[in-house]
Amino acid sequence: MSTSPHAAKTLLVGHADVIALLPMSECIDAMADALRALATGGAVLPLRQVVRLADGRNAFGLMPALLDRPSALGAKVITVFPGNDATPYDSHQGAVLLFDLEHGRLIAILDASSITGIRTAAVTAVATQLLSRPESRTLALLGAGVQAATHLESVRIVRNITEVRVWSRSGERARRFAERCANRGVRIVVCETARDAVDGADIVCTVTSSREPVLHHEWLAPGAHVNAVGASLATARELDSATVVASRFYVDRRESALNEAGDFLVPKREGLVDDDHIVGEIGELLVDPQRVEGRRTPQELTVFKSLGLAIEDVASARRIYDRAVATGAGTWFELGGLRDADA
Ligand code: NDP
Repeated sequence: MSTSPHAAKTLLVGHADVIALLPMSECIDAMADALRALATGGAVLPLRQVVRLADGRNAFGLMPALLDRPSALGAKVITVFPGNDATPYDSHQGAVLLFDLEHGRLIAILDASSITGIRTAAVTAVATQLLSRPESRTLALLGAGVQAATHLESVRIVRNITEVRVWSRSGERARRFAERCANRGVRIVVCETARDAVDGADIVCTVTSSREPVLHHEWLAPGAHVNAVGASLATARELDSATVVASRFYVDRRESALNEAGDFLVPKREGLVDDDHIVGEIGELLVDPQRVEGRRTPQELTVFKSLGLAIEDVASARRIYDRAVATGAGTWFELGGLRDADA
């Protein structure tokens, strides 16, 4: 039996502690490890279950996963309320639950908003490092919400970005974003149109809640790399069909893309691409770049479609948990789960 002082307790980790315990650069390494594990059969990852709420716009999602290395079992339980961007509330709220594999105990409950913000941008960084041209300098952000802020941080870790262009549907949001990020040590330009932001950009991240394309192929410079991060439904997309058709197209997970990625499924329904258009998963590219090839020329367009995977959440949770135990962060409480002594 474990002799840890926390043996019968559950750790509660809130927003501020997640931020402190999951630095972006470490999360990038953790996401690369998790994606490698997925590509080598080291993960059990059912498709997410989504309950759509009566308004049809908001959703409640359950994302379970089991990961071999690091050993992590858990689930993210989350609401997605895209309309929250006009309120003080995050559009993604909930918890990541982490269980131990010895007795099945719930060992931690962690803030899902902050984990989602960090791990999604970290996965984008992994893809950007593999697929964008190494000399990329200009980053365009379409969208100015939570993900835009974490993407500003993560892409700059893997590429020497000297200019960031930001566009948002409401220009006011983009202006506030630029003010908030003014001390980040990079030039930030607010653009009136998405086209202005994308024009000549080396790397483009679409991080909006739009269900219709916000990015059009004719705007893109030769050799651009696109991270398509918003739109996680079969009927919603941020990219026009021409962008997908013209690209070498990569995904976080093939099965998820074939079921959930409108960015791929809409052009597929239009008869413009078939399943073979997906070159590979980012984890496959990490594990065996001879078999799944990345960018081949400086001129070609690469696209990474991110849907977000539960292994990313549980791997992040595991890392935060281990760090919290080591540093004394977070709050421990007794939830239950122990048998009565005489039972
Ligand atoms: P926020 O609510 O913080 O920001 C949303 C952004 O989208 C705002 O800039 C908003 O612009 C813009 N927007 C909303 N509706 C539209 C529209 N119809 N057309 C153009 N722009 C629009 O959201 P997050 O940053 O948290 O998330 C951004 C996207 O990323 C969402 O789609 C989310 O579901 C997705 N996501 C993906 C993950 C993944 O793993 N792939 C993980 C987490 C989120 P404005 O405020 O100016 O109107």
